[in-house]
Amino acid sequence: MNSFEWASASSVEDAVKLLKPGEGKVDPDEAPRPMAGGQDLLTSLKSYIVRPNRVVNLKTVQGLDKIEADGAGGLKIGALVTITQLEEHADVKSKFPGLVEAATSIATPQIRNLGTVGGNLCQRPRCWYFRLENYECRKKGGQECFAKDGENKYNAILGGGKSNYVHPSDLAPMLVALGASVVVAGAEGRRTVPLGEFFVMPSQDVRRETILKDGEIVTEIIVPASAMAARSTYLKFKERDSLDFAMSAVAAALELAPDKTVRQARLVLGGVATIPWRVPAAETYLVGKPINEETQAGAAKIALEGAKSMGQNAYKIPLTQTLVRRALAKVSA
Ligand SMILES: Cc1cc2nc3c(=O)[nH]c(=O)nc-3n(C[C@H](O)[C@H](O)[C@H](O)COP(=O)(O)OP(=O)(O)OC[C@H]3O[C@@H](n4cnc5c(N)ncnc54)[C@H](O)[C@@H]3O)c2cc1C
Repeated sequence: MNSFEWASASSVEDAVKLLKPGEGKVDPDEAPRPMAGGQDLLTSLKSYIVRPNRVVNLKTVQGLDKIEADGAGGLKIGALVTITQLEEHADVKSKFPGLVEAATSIATPQIRNLGTVGGNLCQRPRCWYFRLENYECRKKGGQECFAKDGENKYNAILGGGKSNYVHPSDLAPMLVALGASVVVAGAEGRRTVPLGEFFVMPSQDVRRETILKDGEIVTEIIVPASAMAARSTYLKFKERDSLDFAMSAVAAALELAPDKTVRQARLVLGGVATIPWRVPAAETYLVGKPINEETQAGAAKIALEGAKSMGQNAYKIPLTQTLVRRALAKVSA
């Protein structure tokens, strides 16, 4: 890795100051970078994916490691809360079952003990052409996406094109389904952004995965109380049961009317797209209908409309449709 200056931030404002990029046009992978648990950042530094002149330690910022009630039945989750803290928190367990499932599906207890919620949402994609030092892919400023005609078993079937990586976070699809927002701090102060608008596709900016500008950090994730939270689930298919990223995943949440028809629905796909892939057309299709085999199949078909396989990843279409059907059966039971 390149050498860099190490700076421990004393507050959010201090972190923002320390992360200020230099004058002129800076390559996004060369701007100062924040570090939380460091599990993704250190490997990205070692393989020269990021080459910052300064790494800013966020762990020294007080107060970002707590989960607090928002006073209205929802939660405020500090960006430095670990995934273990999240999955073990009493309010998360009692009110947001899908979020516990998403958290426990991540990697191993050791990784969850160190990995933070903010780091999980901002981690870089795992496409091996992006991760391998000797492939100058489009996402790293090169001219092509090697996955398109290469080894693309794990790549995207939705939201690709210019680049075809998959969004790696398991928390993100579930948090999008739960209507979460993130608080972003930067030189101009703080702003709250719905998580569904936080992630960007390669067609919007092929070098970045989020709307964060250089010098900005996530300080908090807000999960509102929701009539759908009690009926939420996260189903993930991975190749190795012990630890693995999603080959496909579905975050689902439902509110049922007294007659058992759907009042509201949220369906967000993971492991198949360049962003957590919400499918509003499938959600609308379900409203007013009971959940049964016919509507499960109908929603599953609609959810994968527009999916394009690249050669080795066509299996993701029926796999994801199966997960959609199973997730709807589970949350309606
Ligand atoms: C072997 C392995 C398996 C894994 N499997 C899974 C899995 O199955 N599912 C899954 O979801 N994840 C998985 N992960 C990812 C793991 O959960 C993440 O590495 C971890 O959550 C990142 O958190 P961190 O705190 O270590 O982030 P860091 O490594 O510190 O940061 C990650 C990135 O986010 C940026 N960042 C960190 N915090 C902030 C912030 N507050 N604001 C803005 N930017 C920030 C950093 O600059 C960096 O680019 C796996 C990781 C490993 C190593």
